[in-house]
Amino acid sequence: MKTLNPGLMQDFSLTIPSLLEHAATNHGGTEVVARLLDGTLFRYDYTQLADRTRQAAQALMNLGVKYGDVVGTLSWNNHWHMECFYAISGIGSVCHTINPRLFEDQIRYIINHANDKVLMIDQDFVGLVESLVDQLPNVETFVILGAKGCVPEPSKLPNVHYYEALIAQEPTGFEWPELDERSASGLCYTSGTTGNPKGVLYSHRSTVLHSMAIAQPDNLSLSATDCVMPAAPLYHAQSWGLPYAACMVGAKFILPGRQLDGPSLLSLIRDEGVTAVCGVPTIWTSVLEHAEKENLDLGKLQRLLIGGTALPTTMRDRFRDKGVAAVQIWGMTETSPLGTIGKPNRAVANMSDVDRDQQLLKQGRLPYGVQMKVVLEDGSTAPRDGASSGDIWVKGPWIASEYLHGDGGALVDADGFFPTGDVGHIDELGYMKITDRSKDVIKSGGEWISSIDIEDIAGRHPAVSMAAVVAAAHSKWDERPLLLVTLIEGQTLDSQEMLDFLEGKIAKWWMPDAVIVIDEMPMTATGKIRKLTLREAYWEHLS
Ligand code: ADP
Repeated sequence: MKTLNPGLMQDFSLTIPSLLEHAATNHGGTEVVARLLDGTLFRYDYTQLADRTRQAAQALMNLGVKYGDVVGTLSWNNHWHMECFYAISGIGSVCHTINPRLFEDQIRYIINHANDKVLMIDQDFVGLVESLVDQLPNVETFVILGAKGCVPEPSKLPNVHYYEALIAQEPTGFEWPELDERSASGLCYTSGTTGNPKGVLYSHRSTVLHSMAIAQPDNLSLSATDCVMPAAPLYHAQSWGLPYAACMVGAKFILPGRQLDGPSLLSLIRDEGVTAVCGVPTIWTSVLEHAEKENLDLGKLQRLLIGGTALPTTMRDRFRDKGVAAVQIWGMTETSPLGTIGKPNRAVANMSDVDRDQQLLKQGRLPYGVQMKVVLEDGSTAPRDGASSGDIWVKGPWIASEYLHGDGGALVDADGFFPTGDVGHIDELGYMKITDRSKDVIKSGGEWISSIDIEDIAGRHPAVSMAAVVAAAHSKWDERPLLLVTLIEGQTLDSQEMLDFLEGKIAKWWMPDAVIVIDEMPMTATGKIRKLTLREAYWEHLS
């Protein structure tokens, strides 16, 4: 759009290197700490991070990486990966974070689909890449993240470099090229529970605006005095934007490596003075269990940002007992990921404790920058009445407009809203509540049953470790809910006991038709329950 009457303010591009340079200039001595594969800690500060990143940027350009090229990363949450984030995007190429927990076929598919030219790989993943290399015709160069000799030179990979050797001779004074803020900067594939994964292509502008948003007090509330530790992998929606927001605010930053078990995370929390963490609930359950078993406190931890699945009430309460506030965010790879956040507005702040707790179990309210509507089956927009459920659509400067290479077709509607695939409603106070993902919805006698609500309540039973509710085919009602649970070690549960526990807490017609104890929950590559597998396995259970 051409500006007819331009304002007289400077035209400052919102680019990713500007975040890094801000941190180096204004918070240069603030520490960044990374756990290495052998468990030891690597420590440096924003000045050194920026120096090494500029060296890496020059090294990538020497390798022939150009504006618009895609560079893949297969790496844990460590300082190498953080440097790659900034170096790759900073020279105008696209940082494609690959989820190593996907099936090999999917990894091969996304590397080829994205057209990765270079792969930056942790020592851990060299074997994986060697097994795929014959099917990766477009990858020209492989860079192993470590010093020369950290792993024996892989015989099957052509054109291999070691990161440390590659950057060592480069100048720290590299000047970032000027970039249009709308250029592509990062690429992350959704996990593709159905069909092939689809690529979400972020831009410099979307990334910087999203960082500004998440840092705000009513969102993740990040400050220079915080010590932030993302336990969401850097390959999962860019660790929820924290590597960028941490530089923006100048927070101390902890990268926990691949060790996301309770004892490792808790030792970092306590030893490094971590104040804010993020991740899916399963990770924090193991931290809690370890702290409770060993009778350890949570150090200076204040805030736990939970997303990816609903915040379990029991988790909120157990953390609260230890003085830590669990805050729920809702979002998806396609929303960068902040979509809504479960923080009080004025009306909610004034509620009784019980009502406020109840209200904040909803997925939350909208930050500036995200617009949302609920579309009913007849195509009309639902009123904000806290009851009219339908498909959730979102719009905003950090929301995807389409998938890479047009996969899935044109998705936004005439008003520019993107379909999330989630089902829910918005209440009078502007709080959205998800009842299900549309593919997990249980439709019994034409009415929707919320699996998320039943799972939360079942999860409060003292014997239950994880709970999942899925639909099974039913001759009379089309579908009926089944409750599948795994148990805490040493516990037993009979199904009547669980049904008695649910009695009075959920509507009678929501009562699961069967309660089934299983040994292990199938999990997705991003740490969520793989409901599709359960649904397929138990679809005929009531027939
Ligand atoms: P995938 O799970 O396919 O890897 P994402 O990580 O982008 O993809 O997941 C996004 C989905 O996760 C959302 O569409 C929603 O269904 C679910 N989700 C995210 N946050 C929450 C939350 N707070 N409560 C319930 N569901 C959530």
